[in-house]
Order: sequence, then structure tokens, then C-alpha cells
Amino acid sequence: MIRSQLSKGTTSVTEILTPSPFHKITATDAAHLADRFATPLFVYDDKFFRSRCDEMLKVWNNTFAKSKVYWSYKTNYMPEVCRAAHEHGLGADFVSGFELEHARRMCPEGPFSFNGPLKRKSELLQAIEMGATINVDLLEEIDAIRTIVSQRPTLTPRLGIRVNPGVPLFDSHDTSFLEKHSDSISVSKFGWPISDGAARIAVEKVIDAGLTVSALHCHLSSQITNHEHFLAALRPVLDFASDLIGQGVELEEIDIGGGFGVKGLVRDKIGWWGQLRERMGEPLPQEESQAFDMPSFATSLKTELSERGLEDLTISCEPGRYLVSDAMALLTRVVGIKRLEGKTWLVVDGGLNILPTASFGERRGLRFFNHEGEFPPSDYTEKCSIGGPLCYEGDVIMPSAMMPATIAAGDLVMISDAGAYTVSRSTNFNQLRAAAVSFDGSDTQTVWRRENYADVFCFARQHDNT
Ligand SMILES: *Cc1c(COP(=O)(O)O)cnc(C)c1O
Repeated sequence: MIRSQLSKGTTSVTEILTPSPFHKITATDAAHLADRFATPLFVYDDKFFRSRCDEMLKVWNNTFAKSKVYWSYKTNYMPEVCRAAHEHGLGADFVSGFELEHARRMCPEGPFSFNGPLKRKSELLQAIEMGATINVDLLEEIDAIRTIVSQRPTLTPRLGIRVNPGVPLFDSHDTSFLEKHSDSISVSKFGWPISDGAARIAVEKVIDAGLTVSALHCHLSSQITNHEHFLAALRPVLDFASDLIGQGVELEEIDIGGGFGVKGLVRDKIGWWGQLRERMGEPLPQEESQAFDMPSFATSLKTELSERGLEDLTISCEPGRYLVSDAMALLTRVVGIKRLEGKTWLVVDGGLNILPTASFGERRGLRFFNHEGEFPPSDYTEKCSIGGPLCYEGDVIMPSAMMPATIAAGDLVMISDAGAYTVSRSTNFNQLRAAAVSFDGSDTQTVWRRENYADVFCFARQHDNT
């Protein structure tokens, strides 16, 4: 049993009693999996994912009088994962028409939250019929819903407004990163800014259309590890909610979205100043690995709600990465090692095609295996960049990592935190999309089969080759 802990003083982290696949898999398991299913291969641990869902629901349901937790489909839409989430009591958050279709099959009872920039009229109609909360992000959606209701007056759409509190969520040693971050959040594609009155105008537009605003929604960012920052960003949303209620708006729900960060993933937050310093051979201090402290966050949020008399509202969230990140590991095989003057490349057979968010400068946990067993961390003596198999320079999984100096082609590299934005964001640029197997220590089953030539070329116009 692994008891995850953070050495950093004040932060308490929920103990993870079920080991993740990254920690559980032995050198023998890795060799068997790679030989039987080929690499690159995602290894999913259903038990671990379910224990994460349970922990999350326990915190959320025990803290708030009325609560909902929606599973974020876009983070990982493998049916195996969605089914587990729904069996444990999560609803579904979908952000597109095809995710709506999928959610309806996986989770007939809901509850549903419909987000995203493109909501077609036909999709809005389906969402209304499903009883989903539609979080309005473009004013055109209000017009479309009004038209739907004028044609079908018995329908009662449940609407939320997606708002943008515009508060920074990340710290960095590099002030040029902070400037960039602040500038970008205030003009986000998503949500209506609260501070300049745009959110209020959106609410008025819904009311003028003869409709009701039942929810406020926000989704701030992803991989937010500091719960104090998250809370600070929510304060304007809570203030706005109490203003609206004071003015007679019958709000029922505040949905704070997802974005809760995990410990196994570190994003280097560098702007132009950091890049310059790095080029001058002056690296910035590395970001610390930190997990979002869900129990403290929920307790503090509850206090903020009662201070504003909002404790009777339904408090909901849409976690994705927080639950699934470490429920999948990625097993890759070493293709080759290229030692150049000034840099060593470790090239493996999986890259940004199946791990696209690695392009944000992410660092993940690594384990290395050869036919004799696992390399102990004391062997990790050589600095390298880990490159993928794609034919372009940017295909880098980790710009800077430590590897065993004796690693060789054919050895295996296991990469942690491969559960979020991988299968659902994979592409077939250069390579076929990878398979996922579920592995519980003994039983192994394919839960997402590997793509093949016929899958890719089924889209082409068919010619008679005879
Ligand atoms: C992506 C997304 C989520 C999930 O984000 P995570 O960072 O995976 O927790 C939740 N809600 C909305 C609206 C999203 O777009």
C-alpha cells in the first residue's frame, strides 16, 4: 500500500490507499504487457479510478447539503471509465454533440451538464429533453433556445451562465509568466467576465427571453494545484451569485467546473524572461509537485458559502484529471538513444500523438525496465530529453529528465499520469492510435483496441482496385 504524502508543511493530502498502475506494475508485468499487447500501451486501473471517485464523492457529499459531481467526458471518454464513474454516482459533463450522444448511452439518468463553445440547435434540443443544465457561453445559444421553446412550449430548459472571474490561478518564480497568465485569463474564450458587467448582461438576456437562470458555472483552468488560488478565483462568482439572488434571480446551483490538479504532473511555468535565463545557462527554480487539497478546499468553500447565505444552493463540480490522471500509465519502448554534444535524446515509441498535453512543458513520473528487472532510481545518472516517434521537432514528451545511463533500445519506459487528455485527445498523425488495457495485477483486458490501417483509411473514397 502506498501512502501518498507531501513533505510540504501545511498541506494535507488525502491518502491514496489503492496503488495506481504506475506504482503497482512490476518489471515482469511490464514485460508481459508489452510483449502481449505491443507498445505504446495505456494501462488502466479500474479499482484505482473507482477509489478516486469514492474519495471525491465522500468529500463533496459530506461537505455540502446539496451537491452534484459530473464526470468530465472530454478528459477521458473510454466507456470503461465513464461506466465506473456513473456506477459510483457521478453525473456527466459533456462539451459537444458526440459527447452528449455518448453520455446519454452511458448515463441515461443523468444529471448532465452541457458546456463548450459549440452547441448546435439540434444538440440544444436533445440536451433540454435530457434535462441537462445548459451553461450558456455564447448569446446565440439563448436565441436558439428561445426558438426551440417557442416551437415546443412544454419544454422547460434549465440554463446556467458560464462566468469568468478573471483571477489568476498560478504562481511562478518567473514574473513574465504571471503577466502572460493575467493577460490571457481576462480575455478568455470562455465565460462572461463578471467585473465589467458582461456576465450580468448575459443573465439579463436570458431573462428578457422569458427564460430562467438556474445556475452559475465557471471552469477556471486545468491542473490547478493550489486550493487557495482556486478559492480566491471563486469569490467573485459567489459574490455575483448573492447579488443575483438579492435581485430576485432564482439561482439553484453553482457549478465550479473542474481543473483540480494532481501531484504526479508538474507544469513548468515559464514566460519570455524564464526562457531567456534558461538560454543564458541560468535555470529557474523548478516548480514543486503538489496535489490539490480537496478536503481543505471543500471546507473553506463551505465557509465562504455560508458567509454569503448561499449554503442552500446545490454545489457542483466537474472533475476530470483529478480522478483519472494516475489511473492510467503509459508503457513505451525505447527506440534508440542519440548522444549529441550538449544533449542526449531518449527516443520512445509514444509521443505527442497520444500524450498531447506534454507540449505544455509537463514533467511526469518515470520508471525504466530491461529484461533483468527495474533500474533503481540510483541508476538515473544521465540527463536526457525524451522524444517521441513523430516526424517533427516539437514531439517531446519531457524536455529534461534523468535516465539510467545503461538504458538501451528495446527497454521499457513507463510514464505516470497518462489518464487525462490522452485517449480522448489522441491523433493518428504519423502513427496509429494506441490501445488501452485494464490491468488489476492479474487479469488483463483490452478496453480500447489499437487503431489499424483499415480504421484510418475507412474515411477515404473507395476505389475499385481490381
Ligand atoms: C475540461 C473541462 C473540465 C475538466 O477539467 P479537468 O482539468 O480535467 O478537471 C470540466 N468542466 C469543463 C467545462 C471543461 O471544459
